[in-house]
Amino acid sequence: MPTHQGRGAEHIISKIMIKKGDLIPGNMYFTTTKLHQELAGGKFVDVIIPEAHDPENEHPFKGNVDLQKLEDLIKEHGAEGIPYLAIATAVNMAGGQPISLANLKELRKLTQKYGIPIIHDMTRVAENAYFIKMREPGYQDVKIADIVKEICSLTDGATMSAKKDALVNIGGFLALNDEELFDKARNMVVIYEGLHTYGGMAGRDMEALARGIAESVHEDHIRARVGQVLYLGQKVIDWGIPVVKPIGGHGVFLNAAKFLSHLTQDELPAQTLAAEIYVDSGVRTMERGVVSAGRNPQTGKHNYPKLELVRVTIPRRVYTQAHMDVVAESIDEVYRNRKKITGLKFVYEPKYLRFFQARFEKI
Ligand SMILES: *Cc1c(COP(=O)(O)O)cnc(C)c1O
Repeated sequence: MPTHQGRGAEHIISKIMIKKGDLIPGNMYFTTTKLHQELAGGKFVDVIIPEAHDPENEHPFKGNVDLQKLEDLIKEHGAEGIPYLAIATAVNMAGGQPISLANLKELRKLTQKYGIPIIHDMTRVAENAYFIKMREPGYQDVKIADIVKEICSLTDGATMSAKKDALVNIGGFLALNDEELFDKARNMVVIYEGLHTYGGMAGRDMEALARGIAESVHEDHIRARVGQVLYLGQKVIDWGIPVVKPIGGHGVFLNAAKFLSHLTQDELPAQTLAAEIYVDSGVRTMERGVVSAGRNPQTGKHNYPKLELVRVTIPRRVYTQAHMDVVAESIDEVYRNRKKITGLKFVYEPKYLRFFQARFEKI
């Protein structure tokens, strides 16, 4: 079912599957996903492996779920209060880190034992499949498209933000195996997105998306894409700049907590670093720390994530290696002057998804 963006699909799946008081376990939160879960009355619970919260840890599949933690949660809360397990591929907030097929197969077994479906955020599934091909025993000679299909075969539904791996300017979709659930979703889409035949997208955009899906799994494309990210990552690693390792699929994630170690988390180190890079070179990066984590809806206090990251995300098929050099040199310039940098404070803070629209001032 087409939707105008990924969050359109997240909105609908959350509304039809989540009831008040439900818990939705997942391999690290994503901003829009979590908010839609909360607005539907649910609460996100992080069950990613602990290695994912450590930027220096070089685990090859930092997107994996901690099976024990998940099973403990199911036993404690009861399977009826868990509408689904939310699995993201190439986990954004962890630094673009993949989940392994071995882990996914174990998850399938465990959740089937309790009758819990798996909903997959497949926004970066092609990049995840590439890492499986590179790192997981037995997949070296399997086509990216076939790995994507195997990942999807182990899940019950998927949301897609097609602006990412599927290469298009706009678009998304919701996919479901269950006919009855799909029927509910198709009824919702006409309220919030558009007719079920286009879900808020222009026909031209749907044509581009169909081609984008096919091109996203071309072997040479995905190798060049992840390779360009690695080129930038290796450069900043060689210069001693702290980053999340291993380098992820869609961007280089600077470890702002270490980069600006003299700032407290209340001084918004990742937001500060993103601003400093922009001032230096006009390169726009993205905060992934306390600003993105938002506030606890019950207490109104900041959520303090373990990671304070600046995501240097590389758009697909836009830049050359020379552009990557400019980005690396700017990061290095800011790094050499880091001691002089002071933090930021909010001067405007919207209620939802504050990182998109907040404004800041230097302390
Ligand atoms: C971008 C993104 C979304 C939201 O999709 P939009 O198309 O921006 O609405 C959801 N999940 C992940 C992992 C994303 O990267």
